[in-house]
Amino acid sequence: MTAVDRSDVHTPEQGGSPLTTKPRAPRAGAGQADRSAPSFGPDSDPLDVIRWALKAHPDVLMPSAFNLNGVVLLDLAVRAGYRGEVVFVDTGYHFPETLQTQGRLAARYPELTFVTLNAGAHPEDGQTPHDLYATDADACCAVRKVAPLQAYLRRKAPSALLNARSRDQAATRADIPFVEAGARVKVNPLAHWTRERLEAYARDHDLPVNPLYWDGFLSVGCWTCTRAVRPGEDARAGRWAGKGKTECGLWAGGNAL
Ligand code: SF4
Repeated sequence: MTAVDRSDVHTPEQGGSPLTTKPRAPRAGAGQADRSAPSFGPDSDPLDVIRWALKAHPDVLMPSAFNLNGVVLLDLAVRAGYRGEVVFVDTGYHFPETLQTQGRLAARYPELTFVTLNAGAHPEDGQTPHDLYATDADACCAVRKVAPLQAYLRRKAPSALLNARSRDQAATRADIPFVEAGARVKVNPLAHWTRERLEAYARDHDLPVNPLYWDGFLSVGCWTCTRAVRPGEDARAGRWAGKGKTECGLWAGGNAL
């Protein structure tokens, strides 16, 4: 593993500029709101959204990469009564801190079932050339991340997914609704929560946030494709920086879940 670049980190705790993301105009690309869902508003309590999801979609399933949003959603989901699976894809390139966060969450929430797809994957396992992330990150994500989860979801066939995306994470997520229509309904209870609110919730509830987050890795993916965020950047600006890529393909694009 290469050394992690943390030289440009400026967290509020360190006295740096706040890394606040600003409201922005909606962009094309977000899923269409599910008009059969209740008319949740910006001030709706995520717990109410999750409770609705559990009733409307008892087979709802939660994929997670254990970022700040995901950890908060997981805690809220348990409070709302979720007792299902938390599904994580091991690409073989995750930070040790991410895998440790998964372990801490599994210990904290024994009522949930933590599922790891592709467990034990590693860069030399032959699934892809070991450096495909550098030459064709879309292809690498498609094989190592999207395909395993798509295959699992085809087997489980949940009618809905609980997802932790929020509008202020990135311009491409600026208009996601609470409930997105589609073959699989996507329920986004944190759509309107800001990063500051998520952090406050995590602190108030002493949640096991990935320690990289507090080093400026506001969105943590594979170590090969993630850097710390710089002041003023979107929370996801450290993902595939300089590669013209903003999403792994799970939530946007032709093979989205
Ligand atoms: S984030 Fe990078 S290493 Fe991970 S699956 Fe995508 S391209 Fe491959």
